[in-house]
Amino acid sequence: KPLVRLRGVDKVYANGTLAVQNLNLDIRANEFISLLGPSGCGKSTALRMIAGLGEHSRGEIDWPTARYDARGRPIREIGFVFQEPTLMPWATVFDNVYLPLMLKDIPRAEVVDRVNNTLDMVGLLAFANSHPRELSGGMKMRVSIARALVTQPKLLLMDEPFAALDEITRSKLNNDLLDIWQRAQCTVVFVTHSIYESVYLSNRIVVLAARPGRMIGELAVDTPYPRT
Ligand code: ADP
Ligand code: ADP
Repeated sequence: KPLVRLRGVDKVYANGTLAVQNLNLDIRANEFISLLGPSGCGKSTALRMIAGLGEHSRGEIDWPTARYDARGRPIREIGFVFQEPTLMPWATVFDNVYLPLMLKDIPRAEVVDRVNNTLDMVGLLAFANSHPRELSGGMKMRVSIARALVTQPKLLLMDEPFAALDEITRSKLNNDLLDIWQRAQCTVVFVTHSIYESVYLSNRIVVLAARPGRMIGELAVDTPYPRT
């Protein structure tokens, strides 16, 4: 069974904009999927609906293998990375990554282990006590990735995470993201308008048409990593 199954999903915003039309997609465990398309085609809208941020207007989004909460809603085990790292400037790198664990009932020693392991995964263990202002743009993005992964989500959703970075930092992060993905053993859905990035990163590229965000094709890409 897929992790997430989208069937005939439409999104119409309150102002009448049809942002996504008839999206059909199975997101399978341990895949690295890119959602590729030009600006305005509905990629972010699709990603937010998968995350449960904003209701869809038609169709179905199911989590066939998820557990359900008391109100009968699927428990989505997700991490979300936005283009803006949105770190707390007054808090250390450690505390920024610790934040999502704060409300969970986890023993302190385990929390420290988990945060440190996740910082190690993104190559920032040595910067645990630094503050965001001391870090480069790429390093802030790594903190943001660590914060998304520290809860050990099944699904990591990334919305054009590297688009604002310079080309060299971006290419280094692309490279490291594949290692992070392998270590985290999660599924990734990566939104991008870069053909290069999607080909470099993914097992599967889902191409969205310019307007409205209708899925126009799928492309499987061979990577040096094990296919799912
Ligand atoms: P992409 O991520 O591919 O750039 P978006 O999902 O952000 O595309 O947007 C898809 C379409 O929906 C665009 O035409 C955009 O202007 C519109 N849109 C996005 N958010 C809203 C909103 N909150 N209200 C109305 N229209 C929106
Ligand atoms: P990125 O942003 O992709 O990590 P950078 O060029 O900013 O790339 O940094 C490359 C590496 O250099 C970092 O991973 C880090 O180990 C080290 N580094 C970056 N900034 C500093 C700094 N202010 N102090 C010490 N080491 C740093």
